[in-house]
Amino acid sequence: MDLKDLERKNIINTYNRQPETTLFLKRGEGVHVWDDAGNRYLDFVSGLAVNNLGHCHPTIVEAICHQAQRLMHTSNLYYTEPQILLAEQLVKYSSADKIFFCNSGAEANEAAIKLARKYGKVKKNNEAFEIITAARSFHGRTLAAITATGQPKYHKGFEPMVAGFRYAEFNDLQSFVELVTDKTCAILIEPVQGEGGVYPATTEFLQGLRQLCDQHQLLLIFDEVQCGMGRTGKLFAAEHYDVEADVYTLAKALGGGLPIGVMGAKGEAAETLVPGEHASTFGGNPVVCAAANAAVNLLVADGFLEQVLKKGEYFKKRLRELSYTKIVDVRGLGLMVGLEIDGDGAQVVRLCQEKGLLINCIGGKTLRFLPPLIATEEHIDIAINLLQKALLTLN
Ligand SMILES: *Cc1c(COP(=O)(O)O)cnc(C)c1O
Repeated sequence: MDLKDLERKNIINTYNRQPETTLFLKRGEGVHVWDDAGNRYLDFVSGLAVNNLGHCHPTIVEAICHQAQRLMHTSNLYYTEPQILLAEQLVKYSSADKIFFCNSGAEANEAAIKLARKYGKVKKNNEAFEIITAARSFHGRTLAAITATGQPKYHKGFEPMVAGFRYAEFNDLQSFVELVTDKTCAILIEPVQGEGGVYPATTEFLQGLRQLCDQHQLLLIFDEVQCGMGRTGKLFAAEHYDVEADVYTLAKALGGGLPIGVMGAKGEAAETLVPGEHASTFGGNPVVCAAANAAVNLLVADGFLEQVLKKGEYFKKRLRELSYTKIVDVRGLGLMVGLEIDGDGAQVVRLCQEKGLLINCIGGKTLRFLPPLIATEEHIDIAINLLQKALLTLN
């Protein structure tokens, strides 16, 4: 039996893969992947903002192999070195004083939600468990994380949702102010919305949220799962705004291709959870942490992130110059870039794939580009040329 048939027979169909058009990928190296027929593609999806350092970066591969030969898993009953060293790195390069390890973005947000509820109880009152999030946000697929996600389409069929979430408008400070009550314990926000359509926050908005949280003893939680780890040209997107969160979450690119989630917390927030209140069997796994250590070291190396910002500006400039009448908007920060069109985004994705470029489309109308951060201006030029060809067949 063909492997695609085997997939349909044995895997629950949550991904809507199309046998005719969904690629079967066999190999990746740097900015490229190859399919089962040996065709090469320029990968501007990057595993959805995971492969920020490209595919199979030799330094990360070596770190994984080195650790895998020594110790692959213990348990958090014991100390392991890569976990402790990674926590030290993250504390050094972020606003956090302490770190909690888990395995994914949704889990990291679950940890943050639990922390915020406990914090509300201890610092405010027994009823202070409400968390305000933004419309169009995305925080993951576990029940609490999907409730936090301000997109009703993801809630449908899974009601009742988790209690205690309110939704305000992204980049509209007043809408958050209006929802704050004695019951509020936290505000959870992506500094740059990803799945919702690539919308960067404004500086007034994030700084306003910081003030609002300070006034009302609320935790400000930044979901940096997608926009963190160099994606926007800073290690953390929050650095663009000169705002520090009390709690942040990371996942996606942190593990250099392996699954990891992190919650960082600062000050009193970092002292909120006590032994026995939260845990994860694989959290802080030595192989994954060894990979993440290698990834962080590469991201913070001299000059690397400055390049990202420059390439992002260049990419957006080239997108604005495309000859296509249905461009609605070009937006983004660093190499997290969206091109909104008044056309069939899915068709553009298909046409680009046929021409050797992998991109992604969100909400049918916004083409999302998440090139590996190691992509050069030449790679961006190649992508623009392929995209232009695809768009010309539509005009
Ligand atoms: C992808 C994503 C998540 C969920 O991460 P998973 O690892 O898929 O659970 C959460 N928040 C944001 C902003 C994301 O982009």
